[in-house]
Amino acid sequence: MWSYREWRRRRTLKRTQLDGGQWQRAVMNTPAARHLGQEDLTRLRELVVLFLDEKAIEAAEGVDLDDDMRLRIAIQACLPILNLGLDYYSGWHAVIVYPGQFRPRHEYVDEAEVVHVDDDWKAGESWEHGPVIISWDDVKSASGQDGFNVIIHEFAHKLDMLDGAANGAPPLHAGMDRARWANVFSRAYDNMCHRADAGEETELDPYASESPEEFFAVMSEAFFEIPHVLLREYPEVYEQLRLYYRQDPGRPATERENVTS
Ligand SMILES: [Zn+2]
Repeated sequence: MWSYREWRRRRTLKRTQLDGGQWQRAVMNTPAARHLGQEDLTRLRELVVLFLDEKAIEAAEGVDLDDDMRLRIAIQACLPILNLGLDYYSGWHAVIVYPGQFRPRHEYVDEAEVVHVDDDWKAGESWEHGPVIISWDDVKSASGQDGFNVIIHEFAHKLDMLDGAANGAPPLHAGMDRARWANVFSRAYDNMCHRADAGEETELDPYASESPEEFFAVMSEAFFEIPHVLLREYPEVYEQLRLYYRQDPGRPATERENVTS
């Protein structure tokens, strides 16, 4: 069936040229993309062009946003959906970039109907049906391959919210086993909470023990940035994320191409 959205996307791809040097620089600055082969990078580039066309990346508090910054944000935002598609980010429009950490003020009511005020400093935030907000300082300081990636973290929350408020489980693909996901994630989460309570130093960010939804977002950061650590610590979580993201960063394309079977 003819689709306006698809027609528009094909037209955008035909009309938009990304500067080759700028693209190379941005990819080099994205360690989480290093597992991708040439064919993957070509598809990522198309996805980034469409992301930049369909989403607004907006500056807040006077941050000086240039094209290099927009490109770096778009690449990291598109990496998790490389094999899922841009429609996984439907229903919202803007990425808002603050120069540094920001302090939104939210009031919320807990189960006992007590009103709380959340005015913590934040490196990022995702709103259900609303924008993704990130601190550029935190994007810059997490540019190593260390398991910290505020953009992947916030966009993982966006995927989690596709079926309502974030709860640590995005809607799964046909063929994936919801009970298996719940079992694997709840055991790993309990283990992470136990280790954090015991004060153990972990390579995986202990912020994962904050809640099941933070666990999913932090494990997603680790999956793309330090997959070998996730494979070692929680191989079953890695396997579920491999099935969900349809990527295998623990086995880079260059290694996979050497496998003949
Ligand atoms: Zn979070």
